[in-house]
Amino acid sequence: MTYGEPIVLKCSTCSGLIKEEIINSGNSIGAIYWTDGKMDAPMFPESHQLIKCPHCKALLWKGHQEKIGTLVSLSTNKKNNSMPYEFPSFEDYYTYLDTNGQFTDKKVIDKDELRYRRFEAWFRKQSKFFMDTNQETPTENQISWIKYMCKEVEKDDVEDYLTLARLKMQLGEIDVVKMLLKKIDLDKELKEDEEDKKPEAIDFRSLHFKLWHTGNDKRRRSNNKPELTKEEKINLNTLYLKLDVSNESDHLFMAEIKRELGDFQVAEDILNNSDFNDLEHYVSAMKTLIKEKDPFVGQV
Ligand SMILES: [Zn+2]
Repeated sequence: MTYGEPIVLKCSTCSGLIKEEIINSGNSIGAIYWTDGKMDAPMFPESHQLIKCPHCKALLWKGHQEKIGTLVSLSTNKKNNSMPYEFPSFEDYYTYLDTNGQFTDKKVIDKDELRYRRFEAWFRKQSKFFMDTNQETPTENQISWIKYMCKEVEKDDVEDYLTLARLKMQLGEIDVVKMLLKKIDLDKELKEDEEDKKPEAIDFRSLHFKLWHTGNDKRRRSNNKPELTKEEKINLNTLYLKLDVSNESDHLFMAEIKRELGDFQVAEDILNNSDFNDLEHYVSAMKTLIKEKDPFVGQV
């Protein structure tokens, strides 16, 4: 592991100076991987985008704090006043997300909830469809169900093009699939163009992950694992709705969230119907825990 020159930030709340160590390169030697996606690596320290001011204890998005220089470039006085930032606790992450309205945006959640309920239903149906090995072609019932799902998905926003494309694929409508795949690329490009012009956005999704991992820390190396708290459940349910249905690696987190919430059947259906490529070791660790009806975070 090699370090770069530390930089100094100015707290936007109290103007106190905050020192940030810069890691130029790290590696994953000796790393431990967990089913919730956390990696504990002695040679690759965890990064923090949300930090706690060592002077006034304000929670700050690092990308929004003014950089005043490297530690080496500053006067002795400023050097001496700068202190390393603190890491937020579980309560800090929860408070930050809550005060930024991340748990209470009822309108968004209602709309997403419908979409995700359909997503789960789809996996359940898929599971039954693929388990029945005597069948070579979809039955009339299955075709009509796929058609129904297509209509449902069409009502939604652009992010569902991939789901729709998969359903159309099952119906053999290749031209429609091609058209939909073109749309996906176009939307991505447009989104990226817009994002280039904006100042750095607070990545709330990553903070939901931090909150999840920080809460799970008390279960990782303990034989006496406490059940999820109310706040942890609220966070997992919110994060579930923020994951991307069209992104296969997010399916792994969807399955893990369902498992930790004790919804083992949905977790298993999601694992059985997704293609995880090089993440198979996660899948098999999670399937073992599902079989044992174990809802706690586990080592991969
Ligand atoms: Zn401060």
